[in-house]
Amino acid sequence: MTGHHCWGYGEDDGPSEWYKSYPIAQGDRQSPIDIESTKAVYDPHLKPLTISYELSTSLSISNNGHSVMVEFEDADDKTVVKGGPLEGSYRLKQFHFHWGQKQSRGSEHTVDGKPFPGELHLVHWNARKYATFGEAAAAPDGLAVVGVFLETGEEHGHMNRLTDAFYMVKFKGTKAQFRSFNPKCLLPFSLDYWTYPGSLTTPPLNESVTWIVMKEPIRISEKQLGKFRTLLFTSEEDQKIQMVNNFRLPQPLKERTIRASFKA
Ligand SMILES: [Zn+2]
Repeated sequence: MTGHHCWGYGEDDGPSEWYKSYPIAQGDRQSPIDIESTKAVYDPHLKPLTISYELSTSLSISNNGHSVMVEFEDADDKTVVKGGPLEGSYRLKQFHFHWGQKQSRGSEHTVDGKPFPGELHLVHWNARKYATFGEAAAAPDGLAVVGVFLETGEEHGHMNRLTDAFYMVKFKGTKAQFRSFNPKCLLPFSLDYWTYPGSLTTPPLNESVTWIVMKEPIRISEKQLGKFRTLLFTSEEDQKIQMVNNFRLPQPLKERTIRASFKA
């Protein structure tokens, strides 16, 4: 399937329409989901998550018309996540965000029905088993995405480096150099997580993701969150449309079990 690049978050091209071009949208392991915390099963065999981003090599920041994204050098195993539910190490490819127009929603996953103002996704791929990101993205064990909820509160010191770069990528299709950013600074203190098998939350919605959703949110200020809302879904020559509400709603859990790395 090629040529389906006209999806978005608007009334005519938004998540409720995606199944027409991407029938997998109605599949058995779609994401995001609502995490019903009391139904999550504590799994004592789950290993702690090991995040090795020490030598991380960020390359660029860009606006792809759906989110703001930071991409990483992924030619070797310098920047990886391992442990947790994963077999072997998964290389960081990019991270991006989802957020709302209002504080009351914005995240993709919800906890006990409650959305957060935003969500960070760190996208990793299984380079031990697959040759390219594209190949991994089509395989059931190809990707591992770490999700971190954004809550509003105090200013987040490290987030400024990011939000200060947003003016360079305001319009769809823009990109700027963005070096020496270690995304470890965007992780919460506790690495407790929930995990379940799921999918990409944007087309092509491939059911290729092992989700690792962090229990503890990170805090950013309302002013910092406001900077996300200065980005645009549209190109410089188009009528401006504010980039907000770029999230998909929770999908049916179906036969899946959510496992927790911690006791409730
Ligand atoms: Zn995402």
